[in-house]
Amino acid sequence: MRTLVIPALLLALVFLTTRLPAPPAAFRPAEEVSTVTAPPAAAPNAHYPSNRPPLVPSPLVKLPIGAVEPRGWLMAQLQLMRDGFTGRLGEISRFLGEDSGWITLKGKGWEEMPYWLKGYGDLGYLLKDAAMRKETERWLHYAFVSQARDGYFGPADNREARDLWPNMVMLAALQSFYEATADRRVLSLMSRYFQYEFHLPAEDLLPGSWQKLRGGENLESVYWLYNRTGESFLLDLARKIHARTSDWASPILTAERDRSWVESSFYHGVNIAMGFRYPGIFYQQTRAKSLLDAVERNYRLVMDRYGRQPGGMFGADENIRPGKEDPRQGAETCTMVEFMASFESLLKITGDPVWADRAEEVAFNSLPASMTPDLKGLHYLTAANLISCDSGAEHDFQNSGTLVSFDPWSYRCCQHNVAFGWPYLAEHVWLATADNGLAAAIYAPSAVTAKVAEGSEVTIVEETDYPFGDEVRLDVACERPVAFPLYMRLPGWARNVRISVNGVAVPGSFRGGRFAVIRRTWRHGDQVRLDFAPVIETVTWPSIRGAVSVRRGPLWYALKIGEDRRRYGGTEEWPAYEILPATPWNYGLVAGPEGAPPAVDLAVRRTPPYQPFTPEAAPIVLKARARRVPAWREEGRMAGPVPASPAAGEGPVEEVDLIPMGCARLRISSFPVVRD
Ligand SMILES: [Zn+2]
Repeated sequence: MRTLVIPALLLALVFLTTRLPAPPAAFRPAEEVSTVTAPPAAAPNAHYPSNRPPLVPSPLVKLPIGAVEPRGWLMAQLQLMRDGFTGRLGEISRFLGEDSGWITLKGKGWEEMPYWLKGYGDLGYLLKDAAMRKETERWLHYAFVSQARDGYFGPADNREARDLWPNMVMLAALQSFYEATADRRVLSLMSRYFQYEFHLPAEDLLPGSWQKLRGGENLESVYWLYNRTGESFLLDLARKIHARTSDWASPILTAERDRSWVESSFYHGVNIAMGFRYPGIFYQQTRAKSLLDAVERNYRLVMDRYGRQPGGMFGADENIRPGKEDPRQGAETCTMVEFMASFESLLKITGDPVWADRAEEVAFNSLPASMTPDLKGLHYLTAANLISCDSGAEHDFQNSGTLVSFDPWSYRCCQHNVAFGWPYLAEHVWLATADNGLAAAIYAPSAVTAKVAEGSEVTIVEETDYPFGDEVRLDVACERPVAFPLYMRLPGWARNVRISVNGVAVPGSFRGGRFAVIRRTWRHGDQVRLDFAPVIETVTWPSIRGAVSVRRGPLWYALKIGEDRRRYGGTEEWPAYEILPATPWNYGLVAGPEGAPPAVDLAVRRTPPYQPFTPEAAPIVLKARARRVPAWREEGRMAGPVPASPAAGEGPVEEVDLIPMGCARLRISSFPVVRD
């Protein structure tokens, strides 16, 4: 009898243990947590299209539009865009009417409509807005029906001018449409169009002008299609396009470039923001590391000389100009959104988190100040030190006319091109990884739903007030336990990041500039917390005569200047207005004892409201001790160049408010240092 009972008991035991729910897996930091410089890319991601051989595998991979769901303040930017001038640009733009060359296919139809559609379409997909999708498809319809037998599509005027630049922008709008809808007409149109390009005599492919400088956009679209169809002629076309595009691998700032119009346009801010990344695009085919080195070298060349300012931009108030390196020189709004898009592209190609740092710096500190808080108007130029957004034309900028007042009717290129800034950023908040995991690449309130491991779907909700909050909470939701790597960017500015999983702290802390990765079997309800612990830092710019700027984590800070808003044009519904200073701006920050950096303290922390990017709503306010610097005067409605530090202060020491520079349209963010 005994011999029978024991096996029965054993069986019951086995049955019970297999049927009982698995106990919560203990978190074992030593085995599960590590850091890497980039997610490994031995093979392509199994679920989402990325580089197929022979292209170099992509460490980070874009998820289909819709996988990332923006929330909180980021969702607010998209909703304000929809209700503001991006969503309603057709009411005021003279390029979006029924006479557009993109509809008639006869008259003029250049970059403006595609610039707008490229962002408007993505905005509609992200907001799941049926009316916007319909409007997007209305414009795309004309592109589909315009395709000629030889593969060309779009306005005939552009074909006659042998100008492929507007189509490069339209290709991006078509790609997004495909990512959102899987409409195969896109693949067919692009394949036939690239056949057209492939059969063009070399001298007719990108013969000059903007298209020659911007051919890398076309190149990126060729790889996008290759990764979906694998047509081998596309790799030959890619080589041809690269050969016909201006050489962005050689140093950008060389005097020899002044010989021709095209060469001098290497100095144009928007061209630099786009072109510097092109060697990195072609690297995917050649795998020549020297091309990635050229990207970083050219970025550095420009930023070390013209980017001596907070906010991630460089002074190019049309072109970069020797001698115009002070933070009062402006950056064009197009330059901001193109710079961000280049960083997002390089982030996926290299997996290097520094590109996410750079995208965040522009997005959080510069882009919001290029637009009005209701996103119903923008200006052409934004500067780190900007004391008057007036409609006058006497500023020391290279371009002429009104450049800094806020006007929904003007600034033709930026007016349309700004549309893709926030949507593209939102799409890169979460990325897939080559090893079938997920990466929190750019931090913002959001949720992501995506396939991992062998194809299980997981949702991760990211709760955070970042960049205004210091902590990020990631909540995992999945039907059954699934093992996959979860990467979290450790921002380059961070020195002391703390991580915990399900309340268990990872011992020690982490420095920024890498990804932390947790490899474990994730269960529903698992929670990761990141505490970035930013500190207030005073950064000195030796080449701006010892000027200082204040940063705390991802945000830079500017003097809060009173705003006097005056309408000068436009309509009741779409006003154009100036913002003039209502309080003094010429302050220096008081040095600490014995020449120590100025002391700055945290004064106010609050939950970000719906639209945090206004002076009144600033979720963080710092206090600094400051004195007026009488010799620092207005020059032609601009702040004079920052005086050498230490500057001569006058009058009493005052306590001034510093607010995130993204909240400040009038701002001083590079200060001289004064003594008390
Ligand atoms: Zn522009």
